[in-house]
Amino acid sequence: MAEIVPRKGSLSFFNPFKSRSSSVSSSKNAPPSDLSIDELKLDQKSAIFTTRLRKTASPANSARSSKPGSKKSSLDQSRSLRQASFPAINVAGEWERDAETGERKDHTEMLHSLAHRESEESLAEKAPVLFAGIPPQAATEFLARLPEAIWKRIVEILGPADKASLALSCKPFRDLLGTGVWTSLDAEENRDAKAAFLGHLDQQLPDHLLCFPCRIYHVRTQKGQETLRPTNISNPIFNCPNAFNAENKVSRHRITVGRSLPFPFVQLILRAHKYSKEHGIHIDSMSRRYKDRDGEWSHQTRYAIVNGHLLVRVISSAFATPNLPPAGLRRLLYSPGDNFHPYFSVCAHWRDGNLMPAVKCALSHIPKPPDGSGIAGAAAKVQYHMHRPSPLITLCSECRPMRRCPECPTEYLIELRMQEDKSDPVKLFKHAIVITRWSDLGDGSSPQSLEWVACNGEAEFDSLAALGKRAISGVFESQFTVDQIPGQKIVSMNPTKEKRGEAGHSWY
Ligand SMILES: [Zn+2]
Ligand SMILES: [Zn+2]
Ligand SMILES: [Zn+2]
Repeated sequence: MAEIVPRKGSLSFFNPFKSRSSSVSSSKNAPPSDLSIDELKLDQKSAIFTTRLRKTASPANSARSSKPGSKKSSLDQSRSLRQASFPAINVAGEWERDAETGERKDHTEMLHSLAHRESEESLAEKAPVLFAGIPPQAATEFLARLPEAIWKRIVEILGPADKASLALSCKPFRDLLGTGVWTSLDAEENRDAKAAFLGHLDQQLPDHLLCFPCRIYHVRTQKGQETLRPTNISNPIFNCPNAFNAENKVSRHRITVGRSLPFPFVQLILRAHKYSKEHGIHIDSMSRRYKDRDGEWSHQTRYAIVNGHLLVRVISSAFATPNLPPAGLRRLLYSPGDNFHPYFSVCAHWRDGNLMPAVKCALSHIPKPPDGSGIAGAAAKVQYHMHRPSPLITLCSECRPMRRCPECPTEYLIELRMQEDKSDPVKLFKHAIVITRWSDLGDGSSPQSLEWVACNGEAEFDSLAALGKRAISGVFESQFTVDQIPGQKIVSMNPTKEKRGEAGHSWY
């Protein structure tokens, strides 16, 4: 009886192969081939899987084995397991009270805290911990636990990337699958599978970087010294034959005029965070502070990694004069040298919705000094100097709320601030329009990852459903400040989801 009770700490009951071996070990005469493939429907839940096994195995036990205790012991084992998974709690009785605080102890709260609340991904991360106590075993032994026909059935349902990974794990699996699973990855239709397979080798190759256009690990030619440079400066971090191929080039995300973030840098930051500093570059080396050459705008970029995702914040600001005419607004906001994109940082969907009208609305709130001539004008000027309007401007309900792009994980905040202009000796402090943008650039697993393609406007994404009440801005700022961030109302940047583009609000 003692031999069947699972060893403490081994957690062998989590391993489907272990549990099978322990139930079969009591009846060694039963050959593994007794199990037909039909009984092993893989899409069924494991609970059904084990009960079926027990049902088919126990008649064999009683008929073939001479030990009378074997059936009883398996019953005992299942009973003790059941008891272990459901702790006895007397719910009918009086509430237990805490000896010190006198609070009623709520056992249901404890039970709820044990419930699985996080995503399936985090469960997958915990799996290696569950198997940690189980000693490694020879591949041939492991393979012998199931008949070859069943293994063949199992590998049939695997995708090309998983097949290639399994074939790489050991010789018996390579023999089972054949080396064809690797060469098949070169087929055009398996491009994504090849990238997924190569992605699994990322941790083993700190000196290389996976190039997605080529689907090859290139040697890092500036290992550890990779620096982000403006878009127009050639900055190869590996020798790539596709570097100047316009059709198959490295994916980039536009930050501001003449600045972009190439995808290999996303890989480098996230690798350094996930594995070791040998694998990439430090996130702080990516922050930048610069002024546009052809405009009035200054920018600050900063990055953060939260839950394996790279978040970016870009603060763009420019001094603004009050009462700008339409031509002045255009000159201030749109860059003629960059296809009339805004100078401040935007996602791919800036033309749709009310981002630009809100910026223009905010600019209209800058108080204008009195003008006019004659006695009335002079009186107004005296009045203005006596009672200067407060430099703090409150924006209206139209332009004040934070905006979220409904089609990508991006948020915007528009503000008017007093800023120091060192270049102007007459008036040092001036009103500046400040537009802050926060974006989630995804997990860096591939340039096809959901958030990355959404920010670039290359795929459908419903950010209001995906993010819900979680604000990217709040998550980002909480990485740098312990203070409570004041709650900002978040509204959709394009509530009607109309895609009228440039025609929608005469943006230029
Ligand atoms: Zn390449
Ligand atoms: Zn306004
Ligand atoms: Zn967007």
